[in-house]
Amino acid sequence: MLAGGGADRAGEGMSGRLAMGGRGPGDEDLQTPQARAALEQATDLFGYTTYIDRVPIRTGQNRHGSDNREEISRARTALEIAYTGKKVAIVSSGDPGVFAMAAAVFEAIDNGEPAWREIDVTVIPGISAMFAAAARIGAPLGHDFCAISLSDNLKPWETVIRRLEAAASADFVIALYNPISRARPWQLGVAFDLLRAHRAPQTPVIFATAVSRADEQIEITDLASADPARADMRTLVMIGSSATRLVPRPNGTPYVYTPRRVEAPVS
Ligand code: SAH
Repeated sequence: MLAGGGADRAGEGMSGRLAMGGRGPGDEDLQTPQARAALEQATDLFGYTTYIDRVPIRTGQNRHGSDNREEISRARTALEIAYTGKKVAIVSSGDPGVFAMAAAVFEAIDNGEPAWREIDVTVIPGISAMFAAAARIGAPLGHDFCAISLSDNLKPWETVIRRLEAAASADFVIALYNPISRARPWQLGVAFDLLRAHRAPQTPVIFATAVSRADEQIEITDLASADPARADMRTLVMIGSSATRLVPRPNGTPYVYTPRRVEAPVS
């Protein structure tokens, strides 16, 4: 069992340390102090090169940038180095446990060298894109919701479709990560078509791009007019449930929220 604080476990004769910290959605004030400290204090920093470049350079720190798709091999190398007694950190965007490196590290431990289980692994929670996006517009995640990655790099497209169908018919608010990329241009359009079969045309849809960064763009629209071309790789797409509401404002964009209470279905 994973139990106890990292500080307690560090003294128990474990070999090496590996911390996983998120960058948050972008704005450095949205990175937790714990995550920042872990990334700064590491002797060896691993991660997707784009994320590593956003961590301030510290003299003496070895930086191991790699391609976005090499998650398991990056995890294995990080574990090998941690096991030699180094203080390793892996940087992710957002939260390291949400569609990111933490699961890859545990998978590498699960299938890797038995000795790696002695490494003291710490996951530091971070602010995931869906929380940053939700906070910018109101409280769309105030009632039951789910998060689905639209990427079929690591799972069959049929699985994505099955989960979208289930989430749509169960009336969850849906946060879509990885909505689109150059290699996956059509999936978001198919997802919107599928959702249109379950939800009213006026269901709120939010395109939240580069949240908390200088080029942030947030668009609130509805399912009938949601245009997949509005999303890119830095967009979190949110689709409201049947209860999600807009509060129009005279002087700006509306608030979006999902009430805490849902009435029993009429039988
Ligand atoms: N671990 C990350 C998610 C990584 S998957 C987290 O917890 O946020 C990458 C996807 O996250 C992107 O395709 C996009 O859908 C979303 N994302 C990450 N940063 C974002 C931001 N600042 N604004 C909007 N979406 C973002």
